Amino acid sequence: MSIAAFRAELGDIPQEDNPRIVQQRSRDHYWYSPVLKAKLDHVTAEVVVSPRSNEEVKTVLRAAFKHGVAITPRGAGTGNYGQAMPLSGGAMLNLMNMDKVLDIKKDRVRAQAGAVLEKLDHETKAAVGGELRFHPSTYRMASLGGFIAGGSGGVGSIRWGGLRALGSILGLKIITCEAEPRELDLVGEDILKVAHAYGTNGIIVEAEMPLTEAHDWIDVMVGFDDFMEAAAFSEKLARQDGILLKELSPCAAPIPEAFFNRHKPYIKEGQSVVLIMVAPVSVEALALFVAHHKGEMLYRADKASDEELKRLPPIYELAWNHTTLRALKVDPSITYLQTRYPTLEHVKKIVDILGDELPMHIEMTRQDGLITYAGLPMVRYTSEERLEEIIRIHEENGCDVFNPHRFTLEEGGMKRTDQKQLEFKKEADPKGILNPGKMIAWENPDFDFSSGKAWLFDGLNPVH
Ligand code: FAD
Repeated sequence: MSIAAFRAELGDIPQEDNPRIVQQRSRDHYWYSPVLKAKLDHVTAEVVVSPRSNEEVKTVLRAAFKHGVAITPRGAGTGNYGQAMPLSGGAMLNLMNMDKVLDIKKDRVRAQAGAVLEKLDHETKAAVGGELRFHPSTYRMASLGGFIAGGSGGVGSIRWGGLRALGSILGLKIITCEAEPRELDLVGEDILKVAHAYGTNGIIVEAEMPLTEAHDWIDVMVGFDDFMEAAAFSEKLARQDGILLKELSPCAAPIPEAFFNRHKPYIKEGQSVVLIMVAPVSVEALALFVAHHKGEMLYRADKASDEELKRLPPIYELAWNHTTLRALKVDPSITYLQTRYPTLEHVKKIVDILGDELPMHIEMTRQDGLITYAGLPMVRYTSEERLEEIIRIHEENGCDVFNPHRFTLEEGGMKRTDQKQLEFKKEADPKGILNPGKMIAWENPDFDFSSGKAWLFDGLNPVH
């Protein structure tokens, strides 16, 4: 590998080689995990290149292929699993300069990979009154390409499911890493090869996403004295077909009181809360539902003063992995898990066993038409061995864990690597230059595809 020869072929494509800046850009939010922090702290690329067009991406990949330089794509670097960290050094490929919204229709938008999701929504709202169906809670920072390659779902998944569902991504344009890089337009089943693949089998340069009708969502916070009441209320509310929601998340005490600093004045000691985003047309129905279930309406943004609205972060920035971020700011020893609880009884079992060692945080989502408890519980971390034990306790009690303390696709458990995906990598990245070290199936020819594990991105199962 010759970085110097690679760089010499890039013409006027912006490059950055200040070691401090390169190291900063070689990191994502891997430090959420004490396990990943210890393993990946030293990792850095040698240069950051920032192409401005598809042609410039091709120039970078052509030179990388010729000189055997590892390429790690990067959007905003908000991924949590070290996905965007260059295990083999080489070059970071910063896609944030490619941020144009290319085409807006009533029901869909096409944009470049570096478009920030909030900006995308601004443009589609103004043009056709539409918005993305769902977005990560890093909405104000994250890129479209990074979300598709590294994320799974988020705010809106209570109604629309996640990226894994057919129809959640309409099309991708990728660029391959070959002697002569090609542009490929992926639609239908082919999209699943590249979604949540950490950029290991193609650089996403454009994506087409479905839109839904935009609403002026109202933030609401409801209190309960008991977490299991909050969780049961959340499931019942999720099943209310007439109440239009974008976010629904029960968080157990002491999370709200200990970590939701600016919302603290609304929260009583020992209270668990449910975070909600509701459409204006449904807010009164929600208020009735809350009263009926003996919840305490703690906060309603449509009744708040201008001063309160200015002071408070949007409720989605208390939810998803922002819940963990808020805790980490107060108590750096905290980490988290990603889980799936089949029923309320499973939630109760884990809460009973692990108590305050695992302050419970759930995101209610829809998956294959069913309301699902997607857990992002916090963990009061003591050791890697204990963390493994907590994972084992989940699995022994019938709860799935998608381990966020692993940087490979397969060990994280979100994405099942199958033969088709491996074949596609052979075609799109024959030298294994794209984000090396993240796909075990590529590194290990004896990899067993049939582990019997639960996967979030399961691919399409053939009907027999
Ligand atoms: P990056 O972190 O830059 O990249 C993510 C992965 O995609 C990396 O493997 C990278 O190599 C690859 N990649 C980036 N761009 C491209 C490209 N153009 N082509 C090919 N590969 C590419 N995730 C959720 O799904 N839902 C949430 O609600 C959520 N909440 C979060 C809250 C916080 C506070 C934090 C820190 C993270 C959260 N995440 C969440 C994780 C992350 O923010 C999202 O997945 C986000 O969409 C990633 O976008 P990014 O631009 O930062 O991608």
